Amino acid sequence: MTAGRTEPGSGRSAEVAANLAEVRARIEAACAAAGRDPAGVRLLGVSKTWPASDAVALAELGVLDLAENREQEAGPKAALIGAERPDLAIRWHMVGQLQRNKARAVARWAHEVQSVDSVRLAEALHRAVGNAQDAGERADPLDVLIQVSLDDDPARGGCPVDGIGELAEVITRSSGLRLRGIMAVAPLGGRPEAAFARLASAGERLRETYPTASELSCGMSNDLEAAIEYGSTCVRVGTALLGRRGLAFR
Ligand SMILES: *Cc1c(COP(=O)(O)O)cnc(C)c1O
Repeated sequence: MTAGRTEPGSGRSAEVAANLAEVRARIEAACAAAGRDPAGVRLLGVSKTWPASDAVALAELGVLDLAENREQEAGPKAALIGAERPDLAIRWHMVGQLQRNKARAVARWAHEVQSVDSVRLAEALHRAVGNAQDAGERADPLDVLIQVSLDDDPARGGCPVDGIGELAEVITRSSGLRLRGIMAVAPLGGRPEAAFARLASAGERLRETYPTASELSCGMSNDLEAAIEYGSTCVRVGTALLGRRGLAFR
């Protein structure tokens, strides 16, 4: 695997640039409809399953917040790009379910973990960040979002809404972690509006106690308009930027 340098104007780079223009136009239109400033919506490019060269193409187009959902894939990809293209100031975000035994590896490359859904995982990440700092592998604490379950399906991960308070307290007591907000994936099937409304009100309650936990990460390729309508500050977009992932990877 080489990160390569995607020639501007090359077939793939031009394709990604055209996709990006469309996604940015969708975000702007959704913000206009909701009376919101597009500067308040971060775009996370989800590069999972795509080669490092595609992540580089996104970064060269200005999408410097990139997300992955598996440590085994993300760690090597981030390391490779970091070595070959140190000029790109990419921030890597972990958005997938994370096992505690991967916390140490994630602490090496992640700027943020959006999928913290249990006290035990938060504690493991806190320890991992401390160890990574002691080893000179990272300087800053880890930004974290609490992943909230909106369909009460434990298989899809996420903390139940009534567990957010306890988890937030543990995170804010952990010097290695910085609580930034909450994240969710809309339930499969049906319209996402009700789920986003639940998430938004959970976010409001969280901010009553933790005013800086202002991030509301929701909205993907298919539902980013609805997410922005309900206050999303961070949309996570893969397919609409890079194309359909192979079925085997999903
Ligand atoms: C894959 C993934 C995305 C991106 O989904 P698309 O539909 O491809 O835009 C967003 N969030 C999470 C947690 C993901 O795993």
